[in-house]
Amino acid sequence: MPEAAMLEITGLSIRYGAVTAVDGVDLTVRAGEVVALIGANGAGKSSILKGVLGLAAATGSISVAGTPLAGLPTHARVRAGVALSPEGRHVFPQMTVLENLELGATEGAGADVAALIEDMVALFPRLRERAGQRAGSLSGGEQQMLAIGRALMSRPKVLMLDEPTLGLAPIIVDQIVDLLAVLKARGMAVLLAEQNAEMALAAADRATVLETGRVVTEGAAATLAADPAIRRAYLGL
Ligand code: ATP
Repeated sequence: MPEAAMLEITGLSIRYGAVTAVDGVDLTVRAGEVVALIGANGAGKSSILKGVLGLAAATGSISVAGTPLAGLPTHARVRAGVALSPEGRHVFPQMTVLENLELGATEGAGADVAALIEDMVALFPRLRERAGQRAGSLSGGEQQMLAIGRALMSRPKVLMLDEPTLGLAPIIVDQIVDLLAVLKARGMAVLLAEQNAEMALAAADRATVLETGRVVTEGAAATLAADPAIRRAYLGL
């Protein structure tokens, strides 16, 4: 039996003034599944993630773990079970690694915060080593791990990653691919927005290809990775 749908998006549209950034997108991510959003710069990937969190005004319907998100403020959406690791990481550079992680915990996590932090530093051993350091002193890859760890602190059912490999060395990209496998095994639903189509198709179960805000192709990641048109357009092959 297929796993339960954790993120269900139907007919999502997002406009910025006269610009239609997202145009009638349907998308489902199930528990234990990684779905990649692939497309060129400006295709609408980030806008979809922002629309899910209520950071961009959207029409259409979005539900997380069965909760419809329409009309809910961002913090209530996080409580419903969705978290974002944003493009560019946006860790707080003057705060320590631990403080950045603590910020990701939802209100009411209380005594669980220590256990959550222990889980994060077990998942990201470099963060344990650097726990007391200012986040601004970390390498790009470490900051990316911190941004993902901070998102995981809210115990999401759906984790959205916006360009997690941007500007990072291949060895860090491999670590992020490994991390996705661990999160999948935990039953997390992951929506991965990536310009690095090669990495995304290698890490994902399914992928949705966007062009100027519309879905142009979707399917099993392995099938798309073998499709000559996709290989030419997105893999440079
Ligand atoms: P990137 O990888 O560069 O983030 P993307 O696929 O995530 O690209 P979006 O950032 O969602 O694409 O942008 C989709 C379209 O919406 C683009 O044409 C972009 O210029 C436009 N856009 C995005 N944010 C805004 C905004 N705040 N105001 C006006 N237009 C915007």
